[in-house]
Amino acid sequence: MKTIFESGKKGKSGFAVPGWDVPDSDPIPAAYCNTGVDLIDVSEVDVVRHYTNLSRTNFGVDSGMYPLGSCTMKYNPKVNEKYATLGGFADLHPLVDVSSCQGALEVLYDLASYLSAITGMKRFSMMPAAGAHGELTSVMIIQKYFQDIKEDRRIILTPDSAHGTNPASVAICGFEVKEVPSTEDGDVDIEALRNMVDGNVAAMMLTSPNTLGLFDRNVHLIADILHENGSLFYCDGANLNAVMGKAMVADMGFDVMHINLHKTFSTPHGGGGPGAGPIGVVERLEKFLPVPVVEKRSDGSYYLDSERPDSIGRVHSFYGNFLVCLKAYIYIRMLGAEGIRGASENAVLNANYLLARLKEVYSLPINRLCMHEFVLSDDGVPNGVTTNDIAKRILDYGFHAPTVYFPLLVHGAIMIEPTETESRDTLDRFVEAMKAIRLEAQSDPDMVKRAPHTTAVKRVDAVSAARKPVLKWVP
Ligand SMILES: *Cc1c(COP(=O)(O)O)cnc(C)c1O
Repeated sequence: MKTIFESGKKGKSGFAVPGWDVPDSDPIPAAYCNTGVDLIDVSEVDVVRHYTNLSRTNFGVDSGMYPLGSCTMKYNPKVNEKYATLGGFADLHPLVDVSSCQGALEVLYDLASYLSAITGMKRFSMMPAAGAHGELTSVMIIQKYFQDIKEDRRIILTPDSAHGTNPASVAICGFEVKEVPSTEDGDVDIEALRNMVDGNVAAMMLTSPNTLGLFDRNVHLIADILHENGSLFYCDGANLNAVMGKAMVADMGFDVMHINLHKTFSTPHGGGGPGAGPIGVVERLEKFLPVPVVEKRSDGSYYLDSERPDSIGRVHSFYGNFLVCLKAYIYIRMLGAEGIRGASENAVLNANYLLARLKEVYSLPINRLCMHEFVLSDDGVPNGVTTNDIAKRILDYGFHAPTVYFPLLVHGAIMIEPTETESRDTLDRFVEAMKAIRLEAQSDPDMVKRAPHTTAVKRVDAVSAARKPVLKWVP
């Protein structure tokens, strides 16, 4: 069997495309070449039933409310899918000549400018494939910035409420992570921060609003403390859903940020992908952005610019996240400036509605108005019923479980984010379910501890699931 690589010229890829530096590829060694695939014959109806049944064993935003704090699981408008399947977009080859994909480049260019308008950041790169990838790319930019000004700084600060990817990105880049404590009411502890900031601190990463669903009231002060020390300020923008159209991340004093298009801008996510984690930077960091950058000529045409000597280089082979970007572009165009603002207002309203009703029955460790999400605790739930049990039992009521045991600084955390796309009726049903579980913890705790009872798969023995996984599912 001839592979696509064998048809390429050896030593020369034959795929020269302006803007893309494609490495020469040798043919696949014979040992790795497939010599024939023995496919079984199945009828269409069996295939359809197989996949339909598989999809029904899963829970998603199309099946019901998905109150997953920190993850912004909002409804994915079906019109996004409609346009993403258009041949001119869906069938683009990664090596297509720029003259044949002007429309796609325009989408990337315009989307980057919309993100700039929403955040105030000077310039965006659409390259990173996920939030964590955006963090990594940004930390590489921070590293390059200090190399450029010839300062050797080795520490990046992250608050104790940070998402686990923050310290991970810092460590992967070779920086040392130091954890800044939070105060009892969920802001960064300013005194502790002052004591930690010195000539060795390259940057601090802060999620804004933070993972407790709170807007840090001292964000400007934090920015000043860092900037006076010559350090950079990074915004983990995973929670942009709460402030888009209301407040500009650049105005808060941040120098570099990432956005999760698959959270804030309604593109699907889960199971590790697909996603997109574009990063935005202030002017002085622009020259470090990854290549190639989509640029526009004065005649209105677009091209991929790789001639950027200060760039950190390439962080993704191609723009394989293009369809995710396209869906975010459609979402922003459909909502417009007013709609974007309205979405964040409704997200915050929905979260505060749930907070007000649920704090009557569950403990709320930090009792403040929240942004788009809030964190309850299982403190005070009777008879040894835990957050884990509550999360399992909520499945029986037809809801996905909230995020649990994160952030770590809240004991038995139950982190709830309804998003703007849930109706009042759905929110009320969720409240009734959570209240009913609290009563069951009193009247029938053993039943709650054995939940779920109505799902296809009953309570999983988590230890065996990790140690002796059964990877084949038999309906
Ligand atoms: C989701 C999330 C991330 C990571 O984003 P991915 O797209 O999942 O890689 C980082 N920080 C916060 C606060 C998040 O909620």
